[in-house]
Amino acid sequence: MGHLQAKAQQTIGQEAVRAMERKFMELAYEEAVQAGLRQEVPIGAVLVDADGLVLAQDGNRTIELSDPSAHAEILVLRAGGLSSQNYRLTGATLFVTLEPCLMCMGALIHARLAHVVFAALDPKAGAAVSRYQIGQDQRLNHSLIVSQGPMASQCGELLRNFFKAKRQATLACSNRPSETKKRQSLLALPFKEE
Ligand SMILES: [Zn+2]
Repeated sequence: MGHLQAKAQQTIGQEAVRAMERKFMELAYEEAVQAGLRQEVPIGAVLVDADGLVLAQDGNRTIELSDPSAHAEILVLRAGGLSSQNYRLTGATLFVTLEPCLMCMGALIHARLAHVVFAALDPKAGAAVSRYQIGQDQRLNHSLIVSQGPMASQCGELLRNFFKAKRQATLACSNRPSETKKRQSLLALPFKEE
């Protein structure tokens, strides 16, 4: 094969990878949107096996399940382990809309995942590249490939809008005279909360 042909094939290969990453990140994004509609922090994840089959997809459910560990990543690892009847997910890839936290990166190491692809960076709590680089920590017995995939701005925007709306709702509650009045009238009720 000539040099140009080889180069063309490589380009096609890269394009196919990009298209595949886009497809799975769109699924993860959909899960993030659904999580937001449930009033959960809008983060979604999709777990894909070595053959490119979706093992599980879900969004955050910490509030719904009263479970601080119910991050999207953890939920798809659990579901993926169950569906493949294996606690090791060797060769699998996780697509997630936000850079995973320390807990999730730890779980991905335990699961022996091959690759994690995230969209938006989390400069405050990200444990893949931002705060820690757990995937490449030589002290751990497993390493995994970490890469930033497509849709970083959309996934970040979804989170920013969610928190902005939450802040505005809180502000509106504390500022609006009618709300103050409503709260005062609520306080005046005989069955007020202590
Ligand atoms: Zn997490």
